[in-house]
Amino acid sequence: MEAADEDLQATPSSTVMAALATLSPPQLSALTDSVLADLHHHHRRVSALLSSPSLFSLALRHLLSLPLPLKSLLVARHLLSSLRLLTRHLPLPALSPSHAPPERRRDRDRDAATLLLLLCELRHRDPRALEDAPPSEWRSVLRRHCSKDLLSIAGIGAFSGGILVPYVEMVVRCRNFVGAVERCLEAGEGRRQVAASPAAVVALPSVEAAGGGECAVCREEMEGGRDVCELPCRHSFHWMCILPWVRKTNTCPCCRFELPTDDVFGEIRRLWGALAKIGSGSHDAGSTWSRDDSCCNGCA
Ligand SMILES: [Zn+2]
Ligand SMILES: [Zn+2]
Repeated sequence: MEAADEDLQATPSSTVMAALATLSPPQLSALTDSVLADLHHHHRRVSALLSSPSLFSLALRHLLSLPLPLKSLLVARHLLSSLRLLTRHLPLPALSPSHAPPERRRDRDRDAATLLLLLCELRHRDPRALEDAPPSEWRSVLRRHCSKDLLSIAGIGAFSGGILVPYVEMVVRCRNFVGAVERCLEAGEGRRQVAASPAAVVALPSVEAAGGGECAVCREEMEGGRDVCELPCRHSFHWMCILPWVRKTNTCPCCRFELPTDDVFGEIRRLWGALAKIGSGSHDAGSTWSRDDSCCNGCA
């Protein structure tokens, strides 16, 4: 499979760096601004969480109550929004709407996600930091660990590299974690099919068939002058054939081009594949959803 070949050449960080390298200076500066704004927002959440014992213990209790797939979903949502910061500046097909869970759960989940990311970060930098500490002491340990980062959040003297390097590291760690969990969940079942997002399907254009072409779904001719559906990869199909298809899978029947999806993991896979294509300058790089990346062990 093409994904396996790609894995031999690209590590997650080289994929992101190669995509960054294709940005023009104004695009890079716009990305840096977005990342900086996102970092400020993240640090505000971290400050609030670490300075309030009650908020911290609520978030910790919520986090500990979640099974691994839901923890993974929290990290996946965070990864998806970080990837969108980057892909917004790249020439990609329209993105699907955001995956905002119901308002009532959002603060709680966001705090749990922030806490999970902090614990991953701590585990990454100092694997033994929490070894003998009971959960009641985790806030103090995290506060000590974060104090230096929080002091530098003003971004004074920040430059592109200084902001983008931690961003790339965070994206790569999240992606490794999400990839590892998804592989566990999909073990033995192969790649999961995800439906195209309804918003992306509604936005598909109708074009007039030139005649002589064949619809790859039903193998019948597309009569000239008849309205057919054209995917962004320029392959076209009878509307009656493609609509049931994209309700099952977001890939083009001819070339496996991926339409946006509302499935968080599917959308991460799609954006990651697109990054890899842009970074490699290839039009047929396929997905780089690697099978060999290790998770940041123990963060869940
Ligand atoms: Zn057809
Ligand atoms: Zn196609």
